[in-house]
Amino acid sequence: MMMKERITDILARIEAACERSGRNYSDVTLIAVSKTMPLHMIEEAYNLGMRHFGENKVQELVRKHDELNEVYGNSIKWHQIGHLQRNKVKQVIEKADLIHSVDSIRLAHMIEQESSKKDIICDILIQINIAKENTKDGVSTDELIPLFIELIRLPHIRVRGLMAIAPYVTNPEKNREYFSKMRQLFIDIKTKNIDNGLTDIFFDAESFNILSMGMSGDYEVAVEEGATMVRIGTGIFGERDYS
Ligand SMILES: *Cc1c(COP(=O)(O)O)cnc(C)c1O
Repeated sequence: MMMKERITDILARIEAACERSGRNYSDVTLIAVSKTMPLHMIEEAYNLGMRHFGENKVQELVRKHDELNEVYGNSIKWHQIGHLQRNKVKQVIEKADLIHSVDSIRLAHMIEQESSKKDIICDILIQINIAKENTKDGVSTDELIPLFIELIRLPHIRVRGLMAIAPYVTNPEKNREYFSKMRQLFIDIKTKNIDNGLTDIFFDAESFNILSMGMSGDYEVAVEEGATMVRIGTGIFGERDYS
């Protein structure tokens, strides 16, 4: 299949998943995960209508941002989806439109500090290790609310929602329970439906509106369970070559 057919197919599947679950198709954003992919393939995707791209390495995001935004301007949106080290925050802060991978207060303080210097507000998601996998980053569900309460105190950070990387599975139905748990956590925070003091704390529940979950193998289930951003790499670009 050509990239055009792949994207068309994915968008149709997202739309069908929305229909099955009574959701609006316009509430779901497709992020093309372009890590390891050359510029010309990102441009091909751009020309097919893609505007959101995900990278997991800061250097790669910065390089691609600088090359492509020169040509296409800020119509290209970049998502830092991989683990973020504190010493890389400074480089990525103004180039990433959304950081999906905040999972510690120390990292958040660095983002706050750099955003404050540049007088910007940085949009972030809290990453949750929803399946408690040793190999994955993210906070546990127990750590989520305490971290959230600390983050909303930081004036140059705006917590836009939650992110998770579900386990690698061949049967996507196996991840439904994790996506469903994510949605419940998301709604609990948004509606302050928790007996944890959130009711007394001001935060902008309106802009807490992003649930980033679902990848090439399981995005249809993720959309059925409420994902507002799906991150798809191989499904759009084909297999990655790490050599
Ligand atoms: C690589 C990656 C993806 C995309 O994975 P595919 O299986 O190729 O769709 C999504 N999210 C994160 C965080 C990734 O690192």
